[in-house]
Amino acid sequence: MIPPEKTPADPRSALEDLERRLRTAEGARLPEVPLKPSAFPRGSFVLIAGPCAVDAHLEETLAAVANLGLTWVRAGAWKPRTFPWSFQGLGLDGLRRLRDVADRHGLKVVSEIVSERDVEAAAPLVDVVQVGARNCQNFSLLRLLAETGQPVLLKRGAACTVEEWLGAAAYLDGHVPVTLCERGIRGFDPCFRNLLDLPGAVLAQRLGGFQTIVDPSHGTGIAGLVAPMVYAARACGLDGAIVEVHACPEASPSDADQALRLPELRSLLFGLAALEPAPIPPESPRRPRELRVP
Ligand code: PEP
Ligand code: MN
Repeated sequence: MIPPEKTPADPRSALEDLERRLRTAEGARLPEVPLKPSAFPRGSFVLIAGPCAVDAHLEETLAAVANLGLTWVRAGAWKPRTFPWSFQGLGLDGLRRLRDVADRHGLKVVSEIVSERDVEAAAPLVDVVQVGARNCQNFSLLRLLAETGQPVLLKRGAACTVEEWLGAAAYLDGHVPVTLCERGIRGFDPCFRNLLDLPGAVLAQRLGGFQTIVDPSHGTGIAGLVAPMVYAARACGLDGAIVEVHACPEASPSDADQALRLPELRSLLFGLAALEPAPIPPESPRRPRELRVP
């Protein structure tokens, strides 16, 4: 066994180094208070589930999510797609439909607003506004959202460093409650859609004091890896997960391969319930010094 003093990379000094750089970076602020206002209630591991997009199976999927006892649902009305000919989402009509179905099932809604153009009409229809990975550093969108008063789920850009992600959060912080979401960064292995960066999520949580969750659906691109990554996030002391689920994944117009089936979501909930609580209590301060061992 390697004695601690011979460990090649000392994570404590890496944290201290990043904190020092963040403290001195122009315009960057580190919180004086350990924990920031969050988009989702603090104190337990929040699980948000729903289809990638508002689609024909919305009612069935949301009814199942509600029946499993979950409170928060996700679904996109505007889908940021790689190609313009791919399904783009149902837009504002889709969002209205999502609100209606969610209300009927007593569910709260997380949904992405892609464009500044839609903020005024769309923000009042959601409980938490998602800023997608592609817009993580869209500073004019972030500034506009800061004025709405609506809580924001800020996804990490696929090529954003932790520092850049926290910098983006600073545009919202102090204006609206913010929750960070690690959704995978660009890796080199085509097996995975993205590379879920768990240490990056923990680092962001501790340096920023933000509630921080993971999205293992986009973070892996593989439905079978979603549950293990949710369990890992829980064990890491992260605050929750957002996962894609669909009543009939084959019929999903986007991200079919990464959608859980309804029985798989049920198993995930049983698995989570069986896990020990995370070693770090959610209410404890999440500053780098916590990692110091005497
Ligand atoms: C999504 O959550 O629907 C989505 C498009 O995610 P991301 O921005 O992380 O790609
Ligand atoms: Mn998706």
